[in-house]
Amino acid sequence: MQQNLLLTPIEFLKGVGPNRGELLRKELGIYKYSDLVNFFPNRYIDRTRYYKINELQNNGAEVQIIGKIINIKTVEFGKNQKRLVAIFVDDTGQMELVWFQGHKWIRESLKVNEVCVIFGKCTSFGNMFNMAHPEIELMAEHKQSLRSAMQPVYPSTETLTNRGVSNKVINKMMQQLFIETQTLFIETLPDYLISELKLISKKEALFNIHFPKSPEILAKAKFRLIFEELFFIQLQLITKNLIQKHKIKGHPFTKVGEYFNDFYQNHLPFELTNAQKRVIKEIRNDMGSNAQMNRLLQGDVGSGKTIVAFMSMLLALDNGFQACLMAPTEILANQHFIGLSELAESVNINIRILTGSTRIAQRRIIHEELENGTLDIIIGTHALIEDKVKFKNLGLAVIDEQHRFGVEQRSKLWKKNTIPPHVLVMTATPIPRTLAMSLYGDLDISVIDELPPGRKPIQTVHRFDSNRLKVWKFLRDEIALGRQIYIVYPLIQESEKMDYKDLMDGYESISRDFPLPQYSISILHGKMKPADKDAEMKRFSEGKTNIMVATTVIEVGVNVPNASVMIIESAERFGLSQLHQLRGRVGRGAEQSYCILMTSHKMSNDSKTRMETMVRTNDGFEIAEVDLKLRGPGNLMGTQQSGVLNLQIADLVRDRDTLALARNYAMKLLKEDAAMQKPEHASLRAVYIEMTKKKNIWNYIS
Ligand code: ADP
Ligand code: MG
Repeated sequence: MQQNLLLTPIEFLKGVGPNRGELLRKELGIYKYSDLVNFFPNRYIDRTRYYKINELQNNGAEVQIIGKIINIKTVEFGKNQKRLVAIFVDDTGQMELVWFQGHKWIRESLKVNEVCVIFGKCTSFGNMFNMAHPEIELMAEHKQSLRSAMQPVYPSTETLTNRGVSNKVINKMMQQLFIETQTLFIETLPDYLISELKLISKKEALFNIHFPKSPEILAKAKFRLIFEELFFIQLQLITKNLIQKHKIKGHPFTKVGEYFNDFYQNHLPFELTNAQKRVIKEIRNDMGSNAQMNRLLQGDVGSGKTIVAFMSMLLALDNGFQACLMAPTEILANQHFIGLSELAESVNINIRILTGSTRIAQRRIIHEELENGTLDIIIGTHALIEDKVKFKNLGLAVIDEQHRFGVEQRSKLWKKNTIPPHVLVMTATPIPRTLAMSLYGDLDISVIDELPPGRKPIQTVHRFDSNRLKVWKFLRDEIALGRQIYIVYPLIQESEKMDYKDLMDGYESISRDFPLPQYSISILHGKMKPADKDAEMKRFSEGKTNIMVATTVIEVGVNVPNASVMIIESAERFGLSQLHQLRGRVGRGAEQSYCILMTSHKMSNDSKTRMETMVRTNDGFEIAEVDLKLRGPGNLMGTQQSGVLNLQIADLVRDRDTLALARNYAMKLLKEDAAMQKPEHASLRAVYIEMTKKKNIWNYIS
């Protein structure tokens, strides 16, 4: 009966009706009683506390004060402008209440010399505090009013406000809803969880999220509901992952054979770091089982993911399969090809590259060799997922710099075989682990958390444009030492034209300041033909030019060990993870490297935080945490394609700890009772089934 009641269309709630019902549906997506119950305030006004006038601060905070009005007057200011001013006093001082509109009826309603409670935002002007358009309640009314001490403020829209559905109205509806449905909310979590975590009941939580009596009980209500939301999402994600592991068959790579062993014993160009060894082991175990591997390999820029990918490919080859590596840009694909060719040659592997600019004749050979199996490894761009490309037996697909590829493209690779290849997704965008687990519930995660030895940490400084002369002097010194330099300009799609102008202007002035024949300068941007880009990149990487002026096309993966300085122009316009990626282009050789962040003096607080963070740390994970805080998970690079989790009350950044807690409990529960069939999980299971029926988890991760 209770469930049926909660399914009642919202217009049947007393005080709603068809017109408001329509508004609630359109503006807030509230269709049924249950939607309204789960429509949570986004903040609360604390009216548990009364301030004295001598305690006021000029910070625009909302306060309530007990006192009385002793005098009302109309003050003229400017031409034909009037305001109504009342002097309000308590036993500690006096202040002004001010109205700019509605003078007549306000004046009539104001009571002089009667104790009342005022509420509103306080500011000070001169020595006097004032409150514009305060809420005023006589003390007698104030005492009687039934509203809770903490006042909820619900999300709203302009249309709602204009059509008279104010916060007060929503509040009334909520009260009515609780009157009609009182005590009918069933518990969703098992008893043992509630007592173990000292949670309040569902019923109490819902009541107190809407009508909290104190900040303490509100905190408990929030925790209970946040935990519940994250817990059910984790149940879904983990279940999905388990099912996938059982259902999707993969090629078991049972052998570690000639290719891998020969390479490992005789041709490894350096000693692997412990992190690399550990990760290779994880990948090997995963690919050795009967299930398809879907693994995310995280590692900061320069941590050495490529060699891990290559050795994983060798395992595929050892088991009679082909492997591919897909990169987001041609430059990157080329670079991988050059690097991997050298390694492949050492163990006699046939390797080729396929990109948009591969000639037709060459393409034909590649298609043929892929199909008849004589080609072992193919490196490429999106060109690899064209329908024409058919593999004889693709065993492993490595995808580099994952944030450029969507989930859809990943699955396109799958379709190339009846049994899907193992998939290794590599990313240098460090996503905090808890978040990664929630967003990529279907991926297992490996982390390279150690840089190869001998690297000198990059020194990062922030300089204002006005210091440019000094920066240029520094560049001349570095060039004199034989080093090379990147100067990067922002390229943001919305202002593409302006950005190209900035880039070209920059290029021109740099050319003037670093003239031929003493200096030579490369330029690289997205509008150039691939062949020109490659040629320019080649000139720079062969040391024929001193400076590379570029847009963010060089953001990912480019590797020129002799480049020791990265200048980022208009650094305030870049996001943190992008800044970190760009910085990762230097510090790849033996020399001390530098990153110089150039900005104007005009910077937002967020920009300042970004600069400070970059200067303070080289740790990609720490940077990702700050980025997450500044931008929220939806905007974090690398999660864009998977979209935002559409959460009702939880916030993945703020509630990270609760998320980890929920995940642990969900795992524990599913380990003991994977199908949620134990009697104590009956109500949980009912909710779970309801949830998966109407809302697949991919609706959360849309
Ligand atoms: P990323 O993780 O950013 O893709 P790369 O795989 O390009 O990093 O590696 C960066 C550089 O470090 C390359 O020049 C690579 O040869 C080198 N490298 C990788 N692993 C090691 C190691 N264990 N010891 C020394 N150098 C290494
Ligand atoms: Mg790389």
